[in-house]
Amino acid sequence: MTALLWLQTGSCGGDTMSMLCADSPSLEDLVDEYGIEVLWQPSLSMEPMKKLDVLIEAILADRQALDVLCIEGSIITGPDGSGMYDPYRGRSKMSLVRELVEKAEYVVAMGTCAAYGGVHAAPPNPTDCLGLQFDKKNPGGLLPIEWRSRKGLPVINISGCPAHPNAMTKTLAMLASGLPVELDHLNRPKAFFNTMVHQGCTRIEYHEYDVEDAEFGNKACLFFNLGCQGPMTVAICNTELWNGRSSKTRAGVPCFGCTSPDFPLDHDLFRTEKIGEVPVHLPLDVARSNYMAYKSLAHEAAPLRVLNKKMDP
Ligand code: SF4
Ligand code: SF4
Repeated sequence: MTALLWLQTGSCGGDTMSMLCADSPSLEDLVDEYGIEVLWQPSLSMEPMKKLDVLIEAILADRQALDVLCIEGSIITGPDGSGMYDPYRGRSKMSLVRELVEKAEYVVAMGTCAAYGGVHAAPPNPTDCLGLQFDKKNPGGLLPIEWRSRKGLPVINISGCPAHPNAMTKTLAMLASGLPVELDHLNRPKAFFNTMVHQGCTRIEYHEYDVEDAEFGNKACLFFNLGCQGPMTVAICNTELWNGRSSKTRAGVPCFGCTSPDFPLDHDLFRTEKIGEVPVHLPLDVARSNYMAYKSLAHEAAPLRVLNKKMDP
């Protein structure tokens, strides 16, 4: 069995809700097929809170093994570094998490808040939130960047707001199966953070030929006017569909870049920030000097079926 404890810190609970939608594997599969024993999960456990107190005591006294510790939510360090804006039984959750991570074989940050600070750490960050091992994209959060769990890994960051359900359950299945989990430079599992949201988007042909929508409810690309961050965002949303059937861009909503460590950016999520005619944020690794030349050439080359928006997204 793989003993798993899930704690919420500064959280809206969205990652838990997201994980309920996992289908490959599902939560039930994790228990039945991968042998995960959920010691405690705030939304799923039926037992009274006293059970959690007893569990925590047993884990800290080395009477209960802790294979996987999942943290959902930002680490609240205010006021004045005490963490007492987020208390648990008279102490800060911040200090509790600091003790529990030392007992865990693996620590997993579920969602951008736990990974990098996320929504609660957005300016002006009144409760002094940060992530477990990052503060936005800066290395070092509650834990220093050199910190390693008992199995020798840093905090595994399943970012997303909320995190993709299957990225969460697949990572847990890999850990429970003893499979190696390779991480990228932001400590996200490469298996689920190796493609851009742009890849697999059904509007991509419009993007290639610079056919851009200026209003919502149409068929073309949402990048140039409507704030889509798909070309800058690493996530599986368009290659592994949500609920097995859709994604933001398929539904006509721009990608908000929620898996990125600097999410949420301090600008309108539904409008593209521009200087003159050039977006401030360009597709990853595209040189500013080349962008406009590419854009006008691409538009000139667009076939009529794309120009006339005959292609359904
Ligand atoms: S990452 Fe998003 S979904 Fe998860 S706790 Fe934070 S705000 Fe909620
Ligand atoms: S809508 Fe977004 S993800 Fe889709 S092609 Fe356009 S920029 Fe890329």
